[in-house]
Amino acid sequence: MDTILVTNAGSSSVKFQVFALEPNGALKREVRGQVDGIGSRPRLRATGANRAVLVDRTYENDKLRDVAAALATAGAWLREELRIDPIAIGHRVVHGGPDYSRPVRVTASVLHRLERYIPLAPLHQPYNLAPMRSILASMPSLPQVACFDTAFHRGHSALADHYALPVSLYEEGVRRYGFHGLSYEYIASALPQVAPEIAAKRVIVAHLGSGASMCALEHGRSVESTLGFTALDGLPMGTRPGQLDPGVVLYLISEKGMSPAQLQDFLYRECGLKGLSGISNDMRELQENSDPRAAFAVDYFVYRVGLNAGMLAAALQGVDAFVFTAGIGENSPKIRAAIASRLSWLGVSLDAAANADNRTKISRSDSRVPVYVVPTDEELMIARHTLSLLQEGSTAQSSTARTP
Ligand code: ADP
Repeated sequence: MDTILVTNAGSSSVKFQVFALEPNGALKREVRGQVDGIGSRPRLRATGANRAVLVDRTYENDKLRDVAAALATAGAWLREELRIDPIAIGHRVVHGGPDYSRPVRVTASVLHRLERYIPLAPLHQPYNLAPMRSILASMPSLPQVACFDTAFHRGHSALADHYALPVSLYEEGVRRYGFHGLSYEYIASALPQVAPEIAAKRVIVAHLGSGASMCALEHGRSVESTLGFTALDGLPMGTRPGQLDPGVVLYLISEKGMSPAQLQDFLYRECGLKGLSGISNDMRELQENSDPRAAFAVDYFVYRVGLNAGMLAAALQGVDAFVFTAGIGENSPKIRAAIASRLSWLGVSLDAAANADNRTKISRSDSRVPVYVVPTDEELMIARHTLSLLQEGSTAQSSTARTP
């Protein structure tokens, strides 16, 4: 059976999933896996469709030095032990810059363009690109598709896309891109089945995971996001501060003598829930901790989600539904309840039992704004995009062939 491999590569790990293309055209998840500990103690783990462990193997560090080598090892394992030889690979790429409003087939020139966005996402983009480059070199005929976290937001109006900076900076790419686009696109694609009555209306989606953001959807399209030029803006996250007066950055440079590299490390790894609590970047751990600093970090997160919901409601000129997704949004009734109570002025009223049960609809029947929990699936979104680009390619080829 034809399969599609989906990858999500980071600095020290690469996650992968395999989807089988069923005869009816549906995509069925067959394998979930990851190689983590790259650069320290590499370990390949994977589970099958029924969550049974398929492999759990560690490697010498010098055998698996980088992300590209890790993915090659996972690919060899899939081929040799599971007889899985994918017909295409879909890659998650965090930044598509101003150029890409949809996924694209990976070529040398596409890679060259995407390298220009490394400074915009220094902790993600280089690792996203490395496996694509090495696969292009070793298996040039295997179709690869780059799917961007920014693409879904490229339809924003000029008002939403600009900073109040000289336009020359906008022209060179300093724009409010927004991220988590594959997650929002998946949610937008699921809403017509989950909640058809609001799918085309004004919906605020809160993607609350280690990385967190919110998106305003209208007619299933993104019109505003809490994230901007990089993934540092908007909501506080596990280790990132969210919205910050740039004056703080100036202060850290002038008074604390921080270099660009130190600042980058500080803003991406030491702030957010971790910095505020001094305890953990993990929401579950904070909720289980009785230290008042943990409770304060949780309250702060909830407060900022409420503030940002107000901003998105203004962008939409009203709200017809609210959706929770990602690790915290899908799994924490307590955080959802705390956020919902901050949104009561907007007309949100939760059904406590439905919320505690993690049901799909968690608002009361008389809530003016219905509230839903919709699990996200960025990997399935990537697999769908990869398949549709493959099919477009074959249609284009067959129509070219028919042209006299
Ligand atoms: P990412 O994909 O950005 O790494 P996830 O979407 O997996 O992140 O979300 C991870 C976050 O979700 C962590 O802060 C984790 O503590 C939180 N989380 C997961 N389950 C729960 C839960 N039951 N209660 C509270 N927080 C949870």
